[in-house]
Amino acid sequence: MSLIDIKSLDTDELASLLSEIGEPSYRAKQVFVWLQSGVESFDEMTNIPKNLRKKLSEISYIAVALTEKKFESRLDETVKYVFRLYDGEFIETVLMRYKHGYSVCISTQVGCNMGCKFCASGLYGKTRDLSASEMLAQITAVQRDIGIRISNVVMMGMGEPLENFDNSVKFLRLVSHSDGLNIGLRHISLSTCGYVAGIDKLARYNMPITLSVSLHAPFDVIRDEIMPINKKWNISALLDACRRYQKVTTRRISFEYALISGVNDSKACAEELAKITKGIMCHINLIPANPVVENSFSKPDNKTINYFKDLLISFGLTATVRRTLGADIDASCGQLRKKIREGSKGAIIQ
Ligand code: SAH
Repeated sequence: MSLIDIKSLDTDELASLLSEIGEPSYRAKQVFVWLQSGVESFDEMTNIPKNLRKKLSEISYIAVALTEKKFESRLDETVKYVFRLYDGEFIETVLMRYKHGYSVCISTQVGCNMGCKFCASGLYGKTRDLSASEMLAQITAVQRDIGIRISNVVMMGMGEPLENFDNSVKFLRLVSHSDGLNIGLRHISLSTCGYVAGIDKLARYNMPITLSVSLHAPFDVIRDEIMPINKKWNISALLDACRRYQKVTTRRISFEYALISGVNDSKACAEELAKITKGIMCHINLIPANPVVENSFSKPDNKTINYFKDLLISFGLTATVRRTLGADIDASCGQLRKKIREGSKGAIIQ
């Protein structure tokens, strides 16, 4: 019999599990509160009778994210974790400090199948999806480690959250639960490479999260080259889905645009970007491309980056350049796991 992933259960599901084993349903909330607060063993649940703790440990397990390595930036307060999961797989999580509080960037899959050419996460494909509990465990592990409360979450680490749809939605429900971490959906961003079927499905849930769409190019000829997903859903299909999504949710969409020197940083690109996003209430988030050893992409110089941004603004768009955090610790997705798989060493703190 396989063990139940108890940290992925909501209070109703816990109540039925408890009734199946002959326990009162009022324990459901108590167990839920413990699990969501980040306990890593049943013995930490001090107000739960010992015999119930034992029963639970026989039929279920608590998903954990164990610190394999931890890197602290000397430039800012960014901390990057490589967490080990129960099956020995590694994922990456990043803690960022902003004026408004702590934000954590979580992974949603081990590896990624999307194959974006500039991204380190896709180099080995996807090994498996993460469960909702493993997404939660990344947050609770960071909170326990640093002793702070996380106020914002971005689903922008390794993996494509909309390809792991059910677990991602379950995570959103659990993380925003008032008896759990209670992180408001308005403080959560979900980033997609343009997985249109998932965007349409997500619209039906009408959640006040921020949808971030990794656009990265306004022309299909360029996007086809750097993002294989574009062959399935091209730019026009993607933007139609964004319009449908916005019609339902009325939420502003954030378009991510990684500026890659000589690839998507021309004036024509800025003009076309303004043209195709017309009518969509959006923000353009410009990200100077992070170099990845396996590819030859590099970021444009600062002058080009600012010129591109100013052009967008002159066309009436809202655009900002994302601050680079943790540049000295390979803080962009997939870079560390790759190093660990390859056995190389970095500025290892722990
Ligand atoms: N699969 C989702 C979420 C994970 S990637 C998505 O594609 O949106 C998070 C963001 O980092 C995406 O916008 C992605 O395109 C971007 N990204 C990946 N590698 C990058 C790199 N080397 N430089 C800059 N941005 C990168």
